[in-house]
Amino acid sequence: MAAPEHRTGERWEPTSEFGWTSKAYDLLEQDLLRAEVALVDGVVTTRVWGCCPRCAGRIDDRQVPTVVGDFTSPRGMADADAAEVLPPVVVVDVTCGCGAAHVDSPEGTTGCGVSFRVELVADSASGPGTP
Ligand SMILES: [Zn+2]
Ligand SMILES: [Zn+2]
Repeated sequence: MAAPEHRTGERWEPTSEFGWTSKAYDLLEQDLLRAEVALVDGVVTTRVWGCCPRCAGRIDDRQVPTVVGDFTSPRGMADADAAEVLPPVVVVDVTCGCGAAHVDSPEGTTGCGVSFRVELVADSASGPGTP
């Protein structure tokens, strides 16, 4: 599927309406947006990349989300697979970082201003499942 064209003419707006989170979900289903979560040295790292749900620019967002919980393996469980201590879902808020200066964007700011929420399911390495 062809990726939509980057709408750089979209006005910059610091919006986090749920509609964008919903659109991001659609893009995830279409593989136009990807989300990945990894556990590296006991630290949960997320990456969300692909098309911005608002301006369709290319974004690549990496975060180390604050996750509540203890991710160190309990003593006596040396064989525990690191993947098993991952939380089932990690939620990250992503802000557009398409790299383009949109109309009305504050000086030095790139992206269209949209923020959206992505839920990353730790154990679905093959991508988002179908509902
Ligand atoms: Zn954008
Ligand atoms: Zn953009």
